[in-house]
Amino acid sequence: MTIVCCRKHGYKGGAKVSKLLSERLSQGLDFTENIRDFSFVCDDYECPFYGLREEIDQIPDDHSEGVFEVRSDERLHELLSRITVVCVACLKDAMKGLPLPER
Ligand SMILES: [Zn+2]
Repeated sequence: MTIVCCRKHGYKGGAKVSKLLSERLSQGLDFTENIRDFSFVCDDYECPFYGLREEIDQIPDDHSEGVFEVRSDERLHELLSRITVVCVACLKDAMKGLPLPER
């Protein structure tokens, strides 16, 4: 697990999220109804992360329930640039007591 240094929580585990979700988080916007889990899968590699429902239509690759089958390393590299890491405690705080979605 990646460790992040959070201004509020200190050193904490990091959660992989989309940059859009990270932006909403830093703006303090409510996204709890809108969050879902995604995954990019390429051969044996799987990168799960949290994102916003609206993002599913912004990613043109084929997917099933948010699991995207990525066909090349180049494409995977491009898609991974959409992802960043945030403090998991901040993400949980923003969920207002709701559990993070799980597949
Ligand atoms: Zn934090």
